[in-house]
Amino acid sequence: MLHQFFGGVHPAEHKDLTEHKATTPLAEAPAQVVIPMAMHVGAPCKPVVAVGDEVKVGTLIGETTGLGAPIHASVSGRVAAVEPRPYGGGGMMMSVVIDNDFQDTPDPCVKHRDNVDALTGAEIIEIVKNAGITGMGGAGFPTHVKLSGAVGKVDTLILNGAECEPYITSDHRLMLERGEAVIGGARLMAKACGLTEATIGIELNKPDAIEHLKTLAGSDVHIEGLKTRYPQGAEKQLIQMITGRQVPPGGLPAHVGCLVSNVATAAAVWDAVTEGKPLTRRGVTLTGGAMAEPMNVLAPVGTPVGWLVKMAGGFKETPDRLLYGGPMMGNPIYDLDAPMMKSTNCLLALTAAEVAEQDPAQTCIRCGKCVEACPMHLTPLFMRMRVDKRKWDEVEALHVMDCIECGSCNYICPARLPLVQSFRTAKFAIRDKAAKEKAAREAKEKEAAKA
Ligand code: SF4
Ligand code: SF4
Repeated sequence: MLHQFFGGVHPAEHKDLTEHKATTPLAEAPAQVVIPMAMHVGAPCKPVVAVGDEVKVGTLIGETTGLGAPIHASVSGRVAAVEPRPYGGGGMMMSVVIDNDFQDTPDPCVKHRDNVDALTGAEIIEIVKNAGITGMGGAGFPTHVKLSGAVGKVDTLILNGAECEPYITSDHRLMLERGEAVIGGARLMAKACGLTEATIGIELNKPDAIEHLKTLAGSDVHIEGLKTRYPQGAEKQLIQMITGRQVPPGGLPAHVGCLVSNVATAAAVWDAVTEGKPLTRRGVTLTGGAMAEPMNVLAPVGTPVGWLVKMAGGFKETPDRLLYGGPMMGNPIYDLDAPMMKSTNCLLALTAAEVAEQDPAQTCIRCGKCVEACPMHLTPLFMRMRVDKRKWDEVEALHVMDCIECGSCNYICPARLPLVQSFRTAKFAIRDKAAKEKAAREAKEKEAAKA
């Protein structure tokens, strides 16, 4: 039986721009890819190639230096530079730049594996680790770390096929076009963390994907249709909908016995295990009212944003806002030379008219709609008041750190207040304050030890 989560909103979907468009390879491959050494939660990778080196698709180019996932060449060709380049997160990031030879020659590591059923869970995790797979739904957490941390601790694996953000359809198309890889990946991930079953949650606005996966899934993979409501695909809300369990404030899915991953991640696991393919390309939705020809493409990681826009026919009008991801949680793109990354599921170019729905901010009218919409049971209007006064202790006491930054409060607010942006500021300030206090405490302890 499905459960409900509190709050949420139902923004206009705008998925019709691309939901019936099959994922196609880029009409023209980019002449150069720029692969950043940080596309995951954790420490940046260390480049292990030098200018002039020849690489093939899947050649290791970045090695982990701590928590992280290795990085591989996404095209074959020659390394043109190893240097800081514009980055998706803003600013510059050490990157490996590869001149494409347009041959798509695979690295010898890419080879078919026959004995998949004989693999142990630990062997699957090792393959996932070496393939550099990270969460492809946005967060970019290294998948092998998630899987190994789940062994013996979780009883439920949930794959997120909700794709609840407006405009984005890359997961929808993946489930329709590569359903076998999604189901196969779900089984491998379940085995890796010691389970025998998995559940895939899909919003009811994708009935074709639900039906298709049901025809492929056996009794060990459950397909659940979920009522369309944003942020259905947020980890904590998905867990609540499917299991009825509530992740405690500040807690992780594992605290309630769950592991949540994304359907695209499952397909990447399938490709890595069955074909030896590292994560080097992915489906991306190119969309928004300013994009001339909205479409879904399969593109090499590191393709510059500007090249992807060109493949979608360019801009038909100057976008008012250009985002990685959807309109609710997406991050701004500052530079068309910045690359798409492992976690890039969408490039969204919004027109001024699309953004105009969000008029300049007015004052709070205390309607309480943000409280009703918040799926984390927070009080956005009161948090916002404290943020304005920079009262970090008070805003922390109102549990701002539990904000999942879903943007539901922003969407529903009739005054169009930039609520989630102010919560991001507050979270940064609170973390910064805690880090400074810790450093001061440690310095004091050191001094005391010396005395
Ligand atoms: S306060 Fe945070 S979790 Fe609640 S609706 Fe706003 S963005 Fe979402
Ligand atoms: S929804 Fe906006 S206007 Fe209404 S109480 Fe919340 S912050 Fe104020």
